[in-house]
Amino acid sequence: MSGSDVHKSLPAALAAELVALADVGQLRFLRTVSGAQQAHTTLDGRPVLLLCSNNYLGLANHPRLLAGARAAVDQYGCSAGASRLISGTMRLHEELEEALAAFKKTPKALVFNSGYVANLALLTTLVGDGDVIYSDALNHASIVDGCRLSRARLQIYRHAEVDHLAQLLENTAASFRRRLIVTDSVFSMDGDLAPLPEIAALARRYDAALMVDDAHATGVLGLCGRGSGEYFCLDYKDIDLQMGTLGKALGSCGAYVAGDARFINYLINKARSFIYTTALPPAALGASLAAVQLLVEKPEMVLRLRALADYFRQGLRHLEIAVNDDPTPIVPVRVGDPQRTMALSAWFLERGVFIQGIRPPTVPSGQSLLRVTLSADLTFSDLDQVLALFAERRREFKS
Ligand SMILES: *Cc1c(COP(=O)(O)O)cnc(C)c1O
Repeated sequence: MSGSDVHKSLPAALAAELVALADVGQLRFLRTVSGAQQAHTTLDGRPVLLLCSNNYLGLANHPRLLAGARAAVDQYGCSAGASRLISGTMRLHEELEEALAAFKKTPKALVFNSGYVANLALLTTLVGDGDVIYSDALNHASIVDGCRLSRARLQIYRHAEVDHLAQLLENTAASFRRRLIVTDSVFSMDGDLAPLPEIAALARRYDAALMVDDAHATGVLGLCGRGSGEYFCLDYKDIDLQMGTLGKALGSCGAYVAGDARFINYLINKARSFIYTTALPPAALGASLAAVQLLVEKPEMVLRLRALADYFRQGLRHLEIAVNDDPTPIVPVRVGDPQRTMALSAWFLERGVFIQGIRPPTVPSGQSLLRVTLSADLTFSDLDQVLALFAERRREFKS
């Protein structure tokens, strides 16, 4: 900042910063989806195909979830009225927690108001001063913030590099009281997987606890969509804490932590972002409960999502556009330059396809991309239509 900025009023200084962001193609603004969250919806009043939502199973506007939310409102009203430890724990919280524990095959589960606060809760409650957290370099912002707030020492290992993690564990073996390894299972920007079996083996060898963020894995990974544990054949004895969100594939909002009862009981007593906030409202709980029940009844939804993702990746490969090979519905398509990325995003939107461009600081400089996310309520012919558009601009993507 130049010296004269000091004398500007705060709003003027903030506005100047935004102008500087716009100059480098990094200004962000909100877009309004005017229809329901589903593959065919309306954006700013125009029909679009939505290819950047986390509503992976297309459940956000599913009749079963709508019915679950309505029944919950009819019976229990609009609000929990208090925090969980006062009088905000309702029968629906218990039912959802029981359903989630059964779904995750863990002794116990606890729901939180969002994935962001669930991660803050876990990281700030389970470790603190004198402890150490080992965190993947590409972990989600909510994990990064939880690590900072925890006051534990932070050891960041290079993305998905088990050898680097092993080296950090070895070097710090005697120096700390409690040790916690934390990783996303599916990384949100690239859609790639953490090497969880190797990480779980290291956790066991070095007597560290393991916490996994299944935000993009719940309803997505494993034959029944139970998450990364199911996919890798690991259970709650291998992964101590499995966190996941209810606002992505499960089509509602909120989050859960599943694991050994001792962890859950501790969180209920100590986690500030669980204790000092009004509990989730009935509508959200009723929708989440319906989503879990539906997924247990119809796990084939997960297979359909996978088939669509495989089809789309194959289509891009035919166009000689480079894509990842991960079993997830997140398909990043690399462009590089942020302005070109946003121009491409606008070009797709003019043709009725909404794909968000991802720029720094979310991704490193020079690695801007179009992040396509697929959902089970798309059709194969929708994807053909999108692939035809990619074909027109194929030379502008990395091959
Ligand atoms: C979305 C997300 C969260 C936050 O979950 P919310 O329920 O949206 O707050 C946490 N971790 C990861 C990896 C996510 O993608």
